[in-house]
Amino acid sequence: LRVAAAGERTVASVCPYCGVGCQLDYHVRDDRIVEVTGREGPSNQGRLCVKGRFGFDYVRHPDRLDVPLIRIAGAAKDPADCLDPGRARAKFRTASWEEAMALAADGFARIRDGTGPQALAGFGSAKGSNEEAYLFQKLVRTGFGTNNVDHCTRLCHAASVAALLEGIGSGAVTAPFTAAVEAEVIVVIGARPTENHPVAATFLKEAAARGAKLVVMDPRGNGLDRHAAEVVRFTPGRDVALLNAILHTIVAEELYDRQYVAAQTEDFAALRAHLVAYDPAAMAPVCGVSADQLRRVARLFAGARTAMILWGMGISQSVHGTDNSRCLIALALLCGQVGRPGTGLHPLRGQNNVQGASDAGLIPMMFPDYHPVGQDTNRAMLEALWGATLDPRPGLTVVEIMQAMEQGGIRGLYVMGENPAMSDPDVTHARQALAGLAHLVVQDIFLTETAALADVVLPASAWPEKDGTVTNTNRQVQMGRAALPLPGAARQDLAIIVDLAQRLGLPWPAASPQAVFAEMAQAMPSLANITWERLAREHSVTTPCHAPDAPGEEIVFGDGFPTASGRARLVPAGLVDPAEMPDAAYPFVLTTGRQLEHWHTGAMTRRAAALDALEPEAAASLAPAELQRLGLAPGDRLRLVTRRGAIELAARADPGLPEGMVFMPFAFREAAANLLTNPQLDPYGKIPEFKYCAARVERA
Ligand code: SF4
Repeated sequence: LRVAAAGERTVASVCPYCGVGCQLDYHVRDDRIVEVTGREGPSNQGRLCVKGRFGFDYVRHPDRLDVPLIRIAGAAKDPADCLDPGRARAKFRTASWEEAMALAADGFARIRDGTGPQALAGFGSAKGSNEEAYLFQKLVRTGFGTNNVDHCTRLCHAASVAALLEGIGSGAVTAPFTAAVEAEVIVVIGARPTENHPVAATFLKEAAARGAKLVVMDPRGNGLDRHAAEVVRFTPGRDVALLNAILHTIVAEELYDRQYVAAQTEDFAALRAHLVAYDPAAMAPVCGVSADQLRRVARLFAGARTAMILWGMGISQSVHGTDNSRCLIALALLCGQVGRPGTGLHPLRGQNNVQGASDAGLIPMMFPDYHPVGQDTNRAMLEALWGATLDPRPGLTVVEIMQAMEQGGIRGLYVMGENPAMSDPDVTHARQALAGLAHLVVQDIFLTETAALADVVLPASAWPEKDGTVTNTNRQVQMGRAALPLPGAARQDLAIIVDLAQRLGLPWPAASPQAVFAEMAQAMPSLANITWERLAREHSVTTPCHAPDAPGEEIVFGDGFPTASGRARLVPAGLVDPAEMPDAAYPFVLTTGRQLEHWHTGAMTRRAAALDALEPEAAASLAPAELQRLGLAPGDRLRLVTRRGAIELAARADPGLPEGMVFMPFAFREAAANLLTNPQLDPYGKIPEFKYCAARVERA
């Protein structure tokens, strides 16, 4: 047991990093977090990874914004300022909240009333609370008058959600990842949990140690490989060939669950006819996996009494991300592996609150709880609740908003806690587009690359400074508590949103997180039986929850699906090439992702001393043989070039990488991966192809 030092207090909360949603205790002395320990939360059972333990000193970093900033009159917005925080800061002066908020609101009102509501947009955040996400989308929809509101889900699991909604009528997981400990077979594909969901990875390793057969499918070596019964290394970008060959085997060898397919699914005949062309012998050269292994994996999965599928960005961040997800959904459904303990479909959510922010309506085509904006009954209910007329037309997604900015259609943007100048694909264009806006307001805790191009910067609250709820990848709604006071003149995000709403003419009262949660419960039936008081007492309740004293339903769809027919749809997927194939000029495949130590665009983890010390600089990883061929040694500088740009960074040897592939993380401002990535979108999920583009590697 930990012995608290004199003067120390303990505050229960949740980790602000990944979607695992580990519960933790902050140990606070003299208004500083001196240590963090894990709590017995349902998703972590006392465990934390390196980010949850050592990733909190960013909160008191000297870069922290603690006063509003206004761009100095005549100071040009230069995309190059994104790379030079000192130069960017010199173009701002400090301001009072009154002056900054008046300027922020006037700019939006002028565009709304002059050009029209569709010239405005908002990017909310999956790193804020549910209450902030809800209030933000409500402000954009009622104060701006547009559905142009989105967040980073568009850049992570939008394709998975599109396929899940189409197939099973719900975009969330059907079972928590902890259900894997009861599975006989666990498929992990396009996900690297040891780096990106480290505590979830411990449950998968535990399951393997107890005898579960782990099948790890990845073009690269994976931290779970040494725990796996089958390691399937496939050709990048050929997920559909791989998965259709497995589906083909299950259907051709009649290994599927006939009873389940007949009772719980529809469109089987069309899928069966489609799969005829995907014999493993024909697909082996396409996906780079032997026909024997394809058949072996199919038989292993179909023969399991209980099986689960977990996937990540490797599946979704592709122009065929929705097709990839359709195949995984079909695999689970054909074998009846949904709705029982030890079974399920689980897209591992990236950010701590991407599930909750999506549920709360930070989506341009859907209101809270995934009601399409064009659906009259729900819209009428919200119009009555919010006292406003709502636009029935879907708004633009993140990347579409950036494109509309470039073309001049979007003139004003409100960004809360997101960093599109780093996270958008093809950031050269994104930064130019942001710099060209007539009015950009950024609400954040640091002068991010996006804030460097703002007209007004509003200093906001960090997670350990606020009360609020978040919803993790397991659908567990959890309570976070404020442990620290706000620095200087920084304000709570909720207070900033309400202030802006009032200045835009909305009669909103001051909002506490508790009051906003109560309103959300009115707008969102999915929150039935989950109250603020309950969360304060119990810390975590799973949605959906069917009684005020029930813990919530961890495993769903055991008795049908929330679709019109009550059945799940089997949707065939065809082969689609990645948007940009390697060629003589760009012979490598570039793939991007996270590292264990760094989080997304690095705004927090690069300001956490221990984490930054572990991974202080960007590196491009290649197979050792490739490095040798290029005449490079680990640590040498190399130049990575794509059709969109070039960057220099250190070379790193990674024996897990196949030849012809290069990996780089996207957390580094000075070597921004998204200068290189391809903005081409999946047509359904509208997600860019971050995981695949053609590249050239040169000595620097
Ligand atoms: Fe935080 Fe995720 Fe690590 Fe848990 S696994 S401590 S939620 S980063």
